[in-house]
Amino acid sequence: MKKVIFLLSLFLFAACQNNKTETSQKETPPVPVPTDFIQQLWYKNSLIYSVDVEVFKDTDGNGYGDFKGITQQLDYLKSLGVDAIWLAPFQPTPNKDDGYDISDFYGIDKNLGSEADFDEFVRQAHQRGIRVLMDLVTNHTSDQHPWFQQAIQSKSSPYRSWYVWSKERPEKWDRGMVFPGVQKAVWTFNEKAGEYYYHRFYESQPDLNTQNPAVLQEMRKIVRHWLDKGISGFRVDAVPFLIEVANADFDPDAPEHQFDMIAQLHQYIQWHKSDAILLGEANVDPKEQEPYFGKDGQGMQTMFNFFANQHLFYALATGEVQLLAKSLEDTKDIPPTAQWAQFLRNHDEIDLGRLSDEERNKIYAKMGPDTNMQLYDRGIRRRLAPMLGNRQLIDLAYSLLFSLPGTPVIRYGEEIGMGDDLKLPERMSVRTPMQWSGAQNAGFSTTAKTVRPVISQGPYAYSKVNVAQQLADSSSLLNTVKTLSRLRKSCPEIGWGEWEILDTGSPNVLAIRYDWQGQSLLMLHNFKPGEQKFRLDPETKNGQTLVSLLDKTESKAENDGKFTVQLRGYGYNWYRLTK
Ligand code: BGC
Repeated sequence: MKKVIFLLSLFLFAACQNNKTETSQKETPPVPVPTDFIQQLWYKNSLIYSVDVEVFKDTDGNGYGDFKGITQQLDYLKSLGVDAIWLAPFQPTPNKDDGYDISDFYGIDKNLGSEADFDEFVRQAHQRGIRVLMDLVTNHTSDQHPWFQQAIQSKSSPYRSWYVWSKERPEKWDRGMVFPGVQKAVWTFNEKAGEYYYHRFYESQPDLNTQNPAVLQEMRKIVRHWLDKGISGFRVDAVPFLIEVANADFDPDAPEHQFDMIAQLHQYIQWHKSDAILLGEANVDPKEQEPYFGKDGQGMQTMFNFFANQHLFYALATGEVQLLAKSLEDTKDIPPTAQWAQFLRNHDEIDLGRLSDEERNKIYAKMGPDTNMQLYDRGIRRRLAPMLGNRQLIDLAYSLLFSLPGTPVIRYGEEIGMGDDLKLPERMSVRTPMQWSGAQNAGFSTTAKTVRPVISQGPYAYSKVNVAQQLADSSSLLNTVKTLSRLRKSCPEIGWGEWEILDTGSPNVLAIRYDWQGQSLLMLHNFKPGEQKFRLDPETKNGQTLVSLLDKTESKAENDGKFTVQLRGYGYNWYRLTK
């Protein structure tokens, strides 16, 4: 990584020199990006696709999606421009938390296929230039995991200290639950063990004791195992809880964190595979983000930008962009090798917990008014399309996803605007099987009973929303997403450049300018249903003509260097400034 930082400094220095020359209107050849660098920082200009194998494509008719199924669909993912697939947990599990309760970290759930099927999937993905990432869920195990089962047998079990225990019920036993309303405690008594054990999540997910060196060593072994099997990095589950110092007296509302664990993990994976990454799930306040990215980029290479995500939904719900712009500014300061991962929806509820009650209520009112749509007192358990309910707004959201500073991450099915099933409990509502076609069970499986029911009723039924039909329709959401994904690849400025938010004079238009190697991009988004016309000063001398990358229209700078731009209701445009 030191080498990467050195190369990056050289590269940024060269780019600045180039910018200076451009300002004085002298042409210089573009600065080449060292290939070594591109290889290691591949996530800077990549699209990540999140998928749960179990609900993607069933080939053996057991009602569960499988590795053979996702292998069959690799060409579909390639055509979408996917550079990396993030696999949800696929290891053996009693499935009390949809696989996030693992009972063997080294195995493969037999419902999903064999180890050979997994290997073949990774091989075929690599053949197409697609990397494979996986969830690393080592904050806890399933209570059925043999480690926990042995730990409860006796105090002298070597596994006892792998978990966190208390003789008495800790004072704060009902504080800091991740699933409030469903989960009752973070300390639960185990009859066999005769003690309370700590669990941040459901009681079937006892937390591992990360202060025990043997546990850390086992984590490295797990990581090494999957790197050796071709994995290119990990979506690290529940990072703030993974690194918290938990014990009988600690305060779950204000835990101490072991940030050196992140740096050690970073070092370990890089040592084994120099381009492997950590993609952190840490919904933290921007003031706390720094140690997660680490000193000199020695922490998470990328983290989901939950903070910007909730403000993005606020902007989509109200049409006002000010808080979204502020959230981007607040999260701007990260190491040059790092990059945020931007997303619209993921596999959980949309978490609006960092907004004020008033802000959150505005989003509820627009996107999740029924209490059955809301979850854990902080979010909404719906998919994007039903939340926005308007195709133009959905297109706007995708244009933003691909043009915000960061790596876009798409959840399976979102590219066709799949709906949710609110009859299913908690977050299962957004985890229904992929809708491939109008055939039986959405073309997901030929068996009558699938792992979860496919959506067969209402406006989001598979007969109306499916891949086959959208492939054939040039105006479909799928084709819009493909166009944006292609466009993102032709805009290296986003991943490599610097960015700035510009004042448009309108509270409803977000304007971002990217600069890189004497080139500038302008990304404009109108969050209001009505047309907007405004004057814009790009505040750069990198060109006098705006050329749209979407519709090829041009507009010239006026005498004062400003442009007059018009956007239709919920309209967006991507421009490159040219001379
Ligand atoms: C995952 C959830 C999961 C939890 C416990 C998370 O943050 O995204 O789906 O329930 O970790 O592993």
